[in-house]
Amino acid sequence: MLILAVNSGSSSIKCAVVDPDSGETRWSAFVENLGTRGPHHLVERDQAGKRSREMGASDHQGAFESVICALNAQPEMARELVGVGHRVVHGGESFHSSALIDAEVEQAIERAAALAPLHNPGHLLGIRAARHALPELPHVAVFDTAFHQTLPEFAFRYAVPEAWYKEYGIRRYGFHGTSHRYVAHRASELLGREPADLNLITAHLGNGCSLAAIQGGRSIDTTMGFTPLDGLVMGTRSGDLDPAIVFHLMERGGLSAQEIETALIHKSGLFGLSGLTSDVRILSARSEEGHSGAKLALEVFCHRLAKHIGALATSFGRLDGLVFTAGIGENSALVRRMACARLGSLGIVLDDEKNGRNETRIDAPESKSAVLVVPTNEELMIARDTRELALGLRP
Ligand code: ADP
Repeated sequence: MLILAVNSGSSSIKCAVVDPDSGETRWSAFVENLGTRGPHHLVERDQAGKRSREMGASDHQGAFESVICALNAQPEMARELVGVGHRVVHGGESFHSSALIDAEVEQAIERAAALAPLHNPGHLLGIRAARHALPELPHVAVFDTAFHQTLPEFAFRYAVPEAWYKEYGIRRYGFHGTSHRYVAHRASELLGREPADLNLITAHLGNGCSLAAIQGGRSIDTTMGFTPLDGLVMGTRSGDLDPAIVFHLMERGGLSAQEIETALIHKSGLFGLSGLTSDVRILSARSEEGHSGAKLALEVFCHRLAKHIGALATSFGRLDGLVFTAGIGENSALVRRMACARLGSLGIVLDDEKNGRNETRIDAPESKSAVLVVPTNEELMIARDTRELALGLRP
């Protein structure tokens, strides 16, 4: 039994055939630069290696037909598909969990596009193309926001006029939910404890970065907000900042809203601070060599990370585990060491050697909380949700 996991953006489609039991990816393919003039290539990867072939099409529907063609070239694998799982960034307040896609769900995803104009329209193109190409299979939407729909109102409301919430949906939604849900579940397995008994903080640190406070398997607070721009310092995103900065730049600097938005999303974060790059590998090496911008960027990143971990720890009476995941969280011993060095007041103590080796458990025996490094696997989560809904195992 296999699932086709799809991540469709405004100009790209990424697909993977995943075994929901073992987590093994049997085959993957991607197409980029859709909507632009060609040539476009479908790049496939499986046990036989990587290969690329030119496609005639330049839109989502044509690209999806090429994907199906490539899949059908491996009939034993294609025959085992039982469902298609689509990653969707924003489900608004409509979705508390993954959902079988029908016309109503498509409409709700379209309505939530007002909240995620850069993401949901691309997801919808992919969903429509995939449903058209594979009408006999059930399709499931897996939302980045759904896991955080359990936040209590005092955690998701901003202290702004109530009408903004009622009329414009201004509230904290939170993102990376599929990753936070997966690593929290995996951490409970690794700790040999029931999810219901655990208070965890999960730190998803990739190009985008966010934390979640998870109590008994439910998200009760998170750092990303109305959009994925809030909270931690990220690769090129600013994270939280005084909103008055925006008015100041408009009034005094003469910058447009569009210019400020572009700068906060694409030119800020580690990249903006260092003036070099958003790549933590390069920043770590340059910082070691004495580059002041690289050093400052890592210090601001780790200071903000520790500060938000401290803030989320107030969600619980005790913290059982801090879980690092994604590109930086899984690989950067330096970031974990610099952040945890600031968390002595929470009783967190790292074992420097285990941390340096990226081991799974990296806390010292005297640490009051476990500290774990857990590779994330969003595709596996998408595959498992899709299997359950496709087979009717979950309402
Ligand atoms: P995305 O959010 O695009 O999925 P990833 O989870 O792949 O991002 O994370 C990308 C980040 O991980 C980059 O900042 C990169 O520098 C960092 N990274 C990847 N490998 C390492 C490594 N070995 N050491 C430190 N940082 C790493």
